[in-house]
Amino acid sequence: MKNFVKKSLNIAIGKSRPVSLIHFVTNRCNARCPHCFIDFDDPVTQSDALSLVDLEKMVKSIDNTLMNVNLTGGEPFLENKIEEICRLYLNHTSIDSMFFSTNGALTNKIIRISEKLSRDFPDTIFTFSISIDHIGERHNSYRRVKNLYENAMSSYHKLSRISENVQPNITITVCDENAEDIEEIFETLVVKEGVKSLTANIVRDEGVFKIDPAQKEKIFNSYCKLIDLIKKHKLSYSGENYLGRMMNHKEEVMYSYFKDIYLDPKYVLPCHAGGGLMGVIYPNGDVYPCETLEKKMGNLHDYNMDLMKLWDDNDPLRSWIKESQCHCTYECAWSYNILSSPKHIPGLLKASLKK
Ligand code: SF4
Ligand code: SF4
Repeated sequence: MKNFVKKSLNIAIGKSRPVSLIHFVTNRCNARCPHCFIDFDDPVTQSDALSLVDLEKMVKSIDNTLMNVNLTGGEPFLENKIEEICRLYLNHTSIDSMFFSTNGALTNKIIRISEKLSRDFPDTIFTFSISIDHIGERHNSYRRVKNLYENAMSSYHKLSRISENVQPNITITVCDENAEDIEEIFETLVVKEGVKSLTANIVRDEGVFKIDPAQKEKIFNSYCKLIDLIKKHKLSYSGENYLGRMMNHKEEVMYSYFKDIYLDPKYVLPCHAGGGLMGVIYPNGDVYPCETLEKKMGNLHDYNMDLMKLWDDNDPLRSWIKESQCHCTYECAWSYNILSSPKHIPGLLKASLKK
């Protein structure tokens, strides 16, 4: 890991510099999932993408505490500049891993880019999280894209043959559409398709999407079932290295909290999003603490693309998040809230050492 001491001190003690950024490189998408939070009818959503010149300035401003960037969207591989954006982060920041959240439709482009990046940056881990909601035609009609399931599975299998630093993963977001069929979906993916890495998310209120309250308990029970299956079949991170063992322990802690707070929302751990350990960058340069809280940290254009200046101006928001005991089930923030928690650091270290 690059800058190990500085990164560790920031996570464990300082908690004031970015460790992870979620970067929406585009709002455009070829799919139309009913649970999507993007308002595709709003013209503002589709405007004002940052130029490569702007992005270069932005990435060069980021402190060398950054460990991971998650490139998402919309569908990130629809963005023409996606490879250049990846290279900006890889060449000018201290990241150790790059994460893509994709629907997996553009197989040829995904494979071409991942082959080049994994060869040019052999020390970086490239994780591709490919979303699957259902099997075959049910997936295609839910997301309203012809052959999406077939292409997504083809992307998964081709990615798994590239190299050790390319790690494809199937992510199921448990929602109203798939809650009743979750065991059948799991079985097909694992037995028939041979999926070796699978994670579960649970649908949440976000943007224009709101969960039907009458379905919440059914969705939650199905999510718990899926978590148990993933654990039983050891389909999360590889236990071969310390990082995988630490991440598996983190997932277990997170799931045990979610069992308590999904149906009965309450504060249990401080959140370090927004001027702390993580933030979200939108295509027009808006920066937010997370995808849930509607309190903008600022727009990069107003800071001459200097993300750290914008970050430093957000101490009041950081204090507000802490003092208001802001809480939610946003998985990305939860990961860093657990990894930086004095209550959980000893358990994480112990798990990482135990083979
Ligand atoms: S693939 Fe992702 S971005 Fe596209 S519509 Fe579905 S949830 Fe939204
Ligand atoms: S608790 Fe949730 S909503 Fe609040 S800042 Fe953290 S991630 Fe955002």
